[in-house]
Amino acid sequence: MPKMTQKQKYNLKRQIEALNACEGKHTELISLYIPPSKQISDVNSYLKNELSQSQNIKSKTTCKNVLSAIESIMSRLKYFKQPPENGLIFFVGHKSIGSDQTEMVAYVIEPPLPIPTFLYRCDSFFYVEILKEMLADKEIYGILLVDRRECTIGILKGNRIESLKYMTSRVPGKHGRGGQSQRRFERLTEVAAHEWFVKCGEMASEIFLEEADMKGIFVGGPGPTKQYFIEEGYLHYEIQDKIIDTFDTGYTDEYGLKEVVDAASEIMSDLKIAKEKRFMKRFLKEVTKIEANLAVYGEEEVRKALKIGAVDMLLLSENLRRYRVKFKCRSCNYGEKKTIDVETLKDFDLPNCRKCKTDNAMDLEEKTDLIDEFSDLAEKTGVSIRLISKESEEGDSLYSAFSGIAGILRFPLNI
Ligand code: ZN
Repeated sequence: MPKMTQKQKYNLKRQIEALNACEGKHTELISLYIPPSKQISDVNSYLKNELSQSQNIKSKTTCKNVLSAIESIMSRLKYFKQPPENGLIFFVGHKSIGSDQTEMVAYVIEPPLPIPTFLYRCDSFFYVEILKEMLADKEIYGILLVDRRECTIGILKGNRIESLKYMTSRVPGKHGRGGQSQRRFERLTEVAAHEWFVKCGEMASEIFLEEADMKGIFVGGPGPTKQYFIEEGYLHYEIQDKIIDTFDTGYTDEYGLKEVVDAASEIMSDLKIAKEKRFMKRFLKEVTKIEANLAVYGEEEVRKALKIGAVDMLLLSENLRRYRVKFKCRSCNYGEKKTIDVETLKDFDLPNCRKCKTDNAMDLEEKTDLIDEFSDLAEKTGVSIRLISKESEEGDSLYSAFSGIAGILRFPLNI
């Protein structure tokens, strides 16, 4: 399965944020998803049809805006003979910019993962669900539901639940006839139950062993049977080791799969946070060491350490919203770099040149997202990058106490 790098994930997140911030005054924002297998000529005829349909839109402004958005997509589409490897997405339309004003925006995105289906939508917002879906963790978990009557085996991929096997048993109910034959009946029942559990165990082990990347397994079912099933070792030992937790469910069929996923979702998010916490704890332990300290933090310090190849692991706060900008003087070519909050940059006064001391403001020559700058630096020297959310106390301290940028060093430095 193709996977996104941390940086691609982060970029996609930012793109979704930007798209979510666009609002149309009316239904005049177009989202168009073109999967890699789609013929461009087919997309063109589809758009031509939309174009003629849209002539009928009652409001004159909306009509004009929708038509120009479609035309803009069609003219951009001319540059493609076929969709790129993962397909192509257009987000085009007039977004509202306060009072009665609108502004045309056009995003053309080549996504990091393949687009599954063709989709055209005209609405008052951009449709980003498919992008969000790509962002969802594609980790695989196994789900096993078992009691004496039924067994369902499924997997959770990202946020999609797949039911793979459903079986029913012939184990008789617990209550037989009374008297002498009662004991015999019970014994037979237990034999049948044992055989049933063996069958369930073998089937589940076979299915789960095929998924090499499985992160863990959740077991569900009503009552204590699931616990008995686990303790008696009916599962292959490798599968047994992957059990994360058990849950009481009302059902042991497909509906039970959903019950387990609902109950487990908190645990899965906890696992992600626990991982982030582990990385942060390693860093915090280094920070408090007096000698041979392997911690580095702060924008300048980490940048320096990265440049000399001293960093082993880079820790970046997901919540960093800063640009690295470069100014340049038109008259003497003097350049200057500065880091500015994304919010501040909107109404930022460009500085005057310090060197030639003219009254002319310098030009904004380059603007890079700080996370991009650091990820690029890290990738060059083979440093592993961890994006850390603010969801744990440790993650929050990275953002608030260490300016969102920290690292664990390969060797101690004096910088
Ligand atoms: Zn100058």
